[in-house]
Amino acid sequence: MKHAERILAESARLATACTACGECVKACPMPAWLPLPPAMPEATAQGMRAVLLGEEPNAEGLAFVAACTRSGSCNAACPEKLDVAFMLRLATMRVRGAVGEAPRVPVKDDKGWVSRVKAFARMTMTEQEQREWT
Ligand code: SF4
Repeated sequence: MKHAERILAESARLATACTACGECVKACPMPAWLPLPPAMPEATAQGMRAVLLGEEPNAEGLAFVAACTRSGSCNAACPEKLDVAFMLRLATMRVRGAVGEAPRVPVKDDKGWVSRVKAFARMTMTEQEQREWT
């Protein structure tokens, strides 16, 4: 099975197991920061499911997927014991066109990310430790 087929199959499997209860949305820190009117968590989760099923997502679901920062807060909240963080990782790949679908979210052209990673690393490791780190 090719990589894209695997992503599609796993997306469909997880979306089918998801009941769109919205518990992961409630547990997520990001919706409070989204520039959208607050949606019902269930509707937002339904939008996430739609992305995974290759269907047209609602605006809230699309924003929820695009805003994922991998906090992982969602996993413990899921009553179905789904790996929601993984679902969102698949969904973020899908909305950026990873499997040939039209991108729904622009891929950020962020030239500053390397310097921010280095800045963060500098707070936790000395220059020498960074050089020696493999
Ligand atoms: S908590 Fe689990 S079942 Fe509920 S919407 Fe999120 S992923 Fe789906």
